[in-house]
Amino acid sequence: MKIKLIYPKWPKLKNQPEFNLPPHGPVCFAATLPPDVELSFCDENVEALDFSDGGDLICLSVMLTCQMPRAWEIADKYRAMGKKVIFGGIASMLHHEEVLAHADSVFLGEAEGRMEQVLRDFQENKLKKTYNFLHDFPDTKLIGTARRNILKHELYHFRGVQMVDLVHASRGCRFNCFPCCTPYLGGCKFRPRPIENVIKELESIDNSRLFIVDNSLSQDDAWEKELFRAIAPLKKKWVSHPIKDDDEILDLAVKAGCWYVYQAVVDTSDHIRRRIKRLKERGIGVEGTIILGMDNQDEDYIKRLVDFLLEIELDLAEFTILTPFAHTPIRAQMEQEGRILHNDWIRYTGGEVVFKPAKMSVDSLQEMYEYAWKTFYGDFSKEIKMAKLYLKVIEKEKRDGTYKESALRARRRRGEGQ
Ligand code: SF4
Repeated sequence: MKIKLIYPKWPKLKNQPEFNLPPHGPVCFAATLPPDVELSFCDENVEALDFSDGGDLICLSVMLTCQMPRAWEIADKYRAMGKKVIFGGIASMLHHEEVLAHADSVFLGEAEGRMEQVLRDFQENKLKKTYNFLHDFPDTKLIGTARRNILKHELYHFRGVQMVDLVHASRGCRFNCFPCCTPYLGGCKFRPRPIENVIKELESIDNSRLFIVDNSLSQDDAWEKELFRAIAPLKKKWVSHPIKDDDEILDLAVKAGCWYVYQAVVDTSDHIRRRIKRLKERGIGVEGTIILGMDNQDEDYIKRLVDFLLEIELDLAEFTILTPFAHTPIRAQMEQEGRILHNDWIRYTGGEVVFKPAKMSVDSLQEMYEYAWKTFYGDFSKEIKMAKLYLKVIEKEKRDGTYKESALRARRRRGEGQ
């Protein structure tokens, strides 16, 4: 059987230099398919989609809400050509009802151990309209090494620098933050993969630089320590979402190759200041993720917040506008208060105001978002700050003698031989 797997294009934030990371959802999904399936993959963010080159079954992997309108266009076109289309991925779970109008089938939940049945149904022309495994989680032992050989690695670089590979060591999250749909999808449960399987996967990746995409590594101290101890001998360098602010764990993270972390900055407190300082003292870079437009914020608050970010010398800052995505606590609250302006999903990028802010007008929040980007990157552009952060990883690799191997791997990925 031939399957064509597609990752639809989405609109990028205009304040960001445009680069594309190799997608993670499709390569994890590919690992769940039986080995006799002939699979071709198109990431529309880096290459044009050729509609004439269809498989027996079209699979759309959709992660983001703003990817959804394009996914529907693609599905409609294939279905008009007589192809069967199945949807999966996070955004398909969040927008299940709407997706049904564009799909022969929608898969909700995690695919490990379930695709044989779905493909059998397809072959017998008995594809179900919905496969609902939401909150019925497969054993994390079943999560295999992602099939990265479906990616055209040479297409994922920025100014000649090879992008990191994405990998995950756990699923779910035990927290329940107000702007986040992970609790809805993952049921507030932390589900680690067996560490030996994670290590096997890391060893298989022909890239020395990785992004460990787990929602938060700060979920279970004993697990986090064990993971970092196990990663250390591989001498990989990696980026991740938050790690626990604890001396022993931070030191282990450094030994395990932590390069920089994403850290939410929600206020100008000493707690945040201390946390950033402790990371930077250990040579771990910090990219702040900053949501603008929360109910306690007005124009002056945002100005003070940006000044604070400059003062604590964040390496990078990514500003987004609070966005009430489906199945988040903040959406439930705003719906009740009648504050949602529209459901034009392609505009749910995090770069546009789609709700009525509490202490500002819509225009004013939009202006403050532009102000934040312009002011934070006033002296040094994002590209220059990214380059400085990139130099950090080179320094780390030179220190532990892995730089040459890392550079060779990157050249191989770009198709430049040895
Ligand atoms: S924002 Fe992060 S830590 Fe909070 S619930 Fe979502 S995934 Fe978990």
